[in-house]
Amino acid sequence: MSEWMPVVGLEIHAEILTKTKMFSNCPVVDSVSALPNTAVDPVSLGLPGTLPVINMEAVERAMMVGLALHCEIPPINQFARKSYFYPDLPKGYQISQYDRPLTVRGYLDIDLSDGTTKRIRVRRAHLEEDTGKLIHIDGGSLVDFNRAGVPLLEIVTEPDIHSAEEAEAFARKLRAILQYLGINDGDMSKGVMRIEPNISVKHKDDTGLRTRTEVKNLNSIRTVYRSIEYETARQIKAWENGDGVRQATMGWDEARGCTVIQRFKESAEEYRYFPEPDLPIIEVSPEWVARIRERLPELPDAKRDRFIGVGVTRYDASVLVADKLVADYYERAISTGATPKTVANWII
Ligand code: ADP
Ligand code: MG
Repeated sequence: MSEWMPVVGLEIHAEILTKTKMFSNCPVVDSVSALPNTAVDPVSLGLPGTLPVINMEAVERAMMVGLALHCEIPPINQFARKSYFYPDLPKGYQISQYDRPLTVRGYLDIDLSDGTTKRIRVRRAHLEEDTGKLIHIDGGSLVDFNRAGVPLLEIVTEPDIHSAEEAEAFARKLRAILQYLGINDGDMSKGVMRIEPNISVKHKDDTGLRTRTEVKNLNSIRTVYRSIEYETARQIKAWENGDGVRQATMGWDEARGCTVIQRFKESAEEYRYFPEPDLPIIEVSPEWVARIRERLPELPDAKRDRFIGVGVTRYDASVLVADKLVADYYERAISTGATPKTVANWII
C-alpha cells in the first residue's frame, strides 16, 4: 500500500441551454458556429446604466440539476457581485452567488470499474453568468462577447474523490445527467462543461487536509484524469523532498503533459463579494420545488436499474447509460426484440 493518496474536490462549470442570456433577452448562440460579437446587447456588454433581469427558465433548469444531484433548495437565494478585472468581463464584476446559493448539500453516487459504488458529496451548485472569450492571435488578443452573460451553473463537490478514476467517473456521470436533463449537450470541446480539479495529497498518518492546487478550466475528461495523476506525483515528491506545496492556480500544458503555475491563489475577500443590489432575492416555495421535480426525466441511475432488471450486469448497465445517445440506441435495439445481454455486449 502506498503511503499517499490524492484528495480531490471538483468545481464544474456547466452552461445552461436557454434561448436567452442569464440577465437579458439577448439570444444565446452556438459558440463555435456564430460569428464573434453577433449576440451581444447593452447588458452583456456591461454598458453603464443597464439593469439585469433574472432569466427564470435558467433558474428552473438549474434547480433541476440540483434536484438530480439530491441537493436541498434553500427557501431563499440571492445573487452577489464578484469583482475582478479581466478583459472578457466588461462590467468589472461577475454576477454570481455567494453565501445564498441556489442548491446545497447533495451527492452523486459513482460506479467504479471494480463493481463498487461510491458516494461523492456535492457542497453546492450556484448560478452565475459566463464571461466573454479571448482569442489570442499573433501580436494581440481579440474578445468575443457572444458568451458573456450565458447562464452558467457552478457545481462544487466536497473533497471526497481519491483517485483520477473516481474524478473521471464523477465527471462522466455528471455530464450524462446534464445531457439527460437537456441542460447542455455535454460537448466539452465546445466549453459547455469545464472542470477544475482542486488537488492535494494525503499521507496515511494525516488527520487533516494539506494545501491544494487548483487546475483551471479543463475541457476534456482525459485532461482531468491526467492532471490529477500528474499533480499527485508532483505533490508527493514536493512533500517528500521538503519543499512542500504552495496554494496555487495552475493550468494544464497539453503539449508537455504537465501542470504549470499561473498565479498564487486569490482569496474570497479579494473578490469583495456583496449582494447584487440590482436584483431581487428569489424565494423558493416547496410547491415550486415540487413542480420542478415533476419536470425531471428518467435519470441515468433509474435507467441503469431498469437495464439491470432485464439481465444486464450492473457495470455494463452503467456503461450503457453513460451517454444518452447510446442509451437511447440500446433501448431502440431492445424494442425490436433483440436479446438485452447480447446487444449490451455488442455495444460495449
Ligand atoms: P474556494 O472557495 O477558495 O475555491 P473551497 O474551500 O470552497 O475553496 O473549495 C473549493 C474546492 O476545493 C471544493 O471542491 C473543495 O472540495 C476542494 N478542496 C478544498 N480543500 C481541499 C484540499 N485540501 N484538497 C483537495 N481539495 C480541496
Ligand atoms: Mg475555486
